[in-house]
Amino acid sequence: MKKTTGTDRSITSKWRPATRAVRAGTWRSEQGETSEALFLTSGYAYDSAETAAARFRGEDPGMTYSRLQNPTVAMLEERIASMEGAEACRVQSSGMAAMTVALLCQLSQGDHVVAGRAAFGSCRWLVDQLMPRFGIESTTIDARDNQAWVDAIRPNTKVFFFETPANPTMDVVDMTFVCGLARERGITSVVDNAFATPALQRPMEFGADVVAYSATKLMDGQGRVLAGAVCGTSDFINNKLLAMQRHTGPNLSPFNAWVVLKGLETLDLRAHRQSENALRVGRFLEGRVPKINFPALPSHPQHDLAMKQMDAAGPIFSFEVEGREQAFAVLNALELIDISNNIGDARSLMCHNASTTHYSVSAEARAEMGVSEGMLRLNVGLEDPQDVIDDLDQALTRAGL
Ligand SMILES: *Cc1c(COP(=O)(O)O)cnc(C)c1O
Repeated sequence: MKKTTGTDRSITSKWRPATRAVRAGTWRSEQGETSEALFLTSGYAYDSAETAAARFRGEDPGMTYSRLQNPTVAMLEERIASMEGAEACRVQSSGMAAMTVALLCQLSQGDHVVAGRAAFGSCRWLVDQLMPRFGIESTTIDARDNQAWVDAIRPNTKVFFFETPANPTMDVVDMTFVCGLARERGITSVVDNAFATPALQRPMEFGADVVAYSATKLMDGQGRVLAGAVCGTSDFINNKLLAMQRHTGPNLSPFNAWVVLKGLETLDLRAHRQSENALRVGRFLEGRVPKINFPALPSHPQHDLAMKQMDAAGPIFSFEVEGREQAFAVLNALELIDISNNIGDARSLMCHNASTTHYSVSAEARAEMGVSEGMLRLNVGLEDPQDVIDDLDQALTRAGL
């Protein structure tokens, strides 16, 4: 494998984000292929027994086994690290695998975690259900409230964990304050940046220690594969995360890594176009539905903070109708937009969170985090936004709105 300029940090660090998304991390085989090669191999053969031994000792730079290293996977890791402005990155088989290793690799029995209460259903399950089984305490708070972070800290607090914007309430967290507070108190901040991706928001610029992704969402962006990623310092990735990842095996397959590499080539284009489309659809819905939660709109209480942290507000927002019955009626009347719980896709997709993505969260926790029975979440795709507006218009009318 020939490393190209894409793996030279002294060169890639000068590139602007859109360039990194296309070129960072690229290696080439002796064939000189332009598109990244797909190495569908589980193992590697050695020239000699001595070479094999040297590789396992870490003295020979070659690869040993695809649970530990794979060239296609390594290209994706280097590309995401470069886009994030992180020292290192490791990718996983799904966003939830990423969140699980990012948290468990640094937590032990007796530790305490403070988490934003508005979060993806499975992220809440990790904090509310899984961690207590292993003696890790947690407190969930309104992550928009800076004082709530201060008040929740205990002597054994090790991690702050939050999403911004959060799924699906679109709560925005003041990263400069919360990540700064974490640093000051020796706490590690872990930010789930799935909604924005590094194309729209780079939490490390605001002091985040660890940034974790569902790459299934905007990074793939075409609804093809599940993938996850964790970015951090070399010390965090190599000395905390890597042991857990290598020995428990939540690896991303080389094929899926390759699909995400192709997705990243168009991420900047898609993220910005879909953000523009979402803004047009959001402007139509504002005033037409009882409530809309979209930080892109100046009427959103956290608009200024969101726009300080994000280059554009992204393709996803939620809105609220009268209750579950009316929400279902809207979904069932759609003709173009699919009823689907995926997000970040090039297709416009809509779902009722209380009965799908947040079904595993208790009714009390849903009410507390603001996932109402009438809430619908919309991902605006790459279709002509006027067609999406027309579809919503007819569906809302048929549902009595
Ligand atoms: C989808 C999602 C996840 C989980 O990712 P998967 O790839 O589905 O495992 C985690 N966090 C957020 C904010 C998400 O939207």
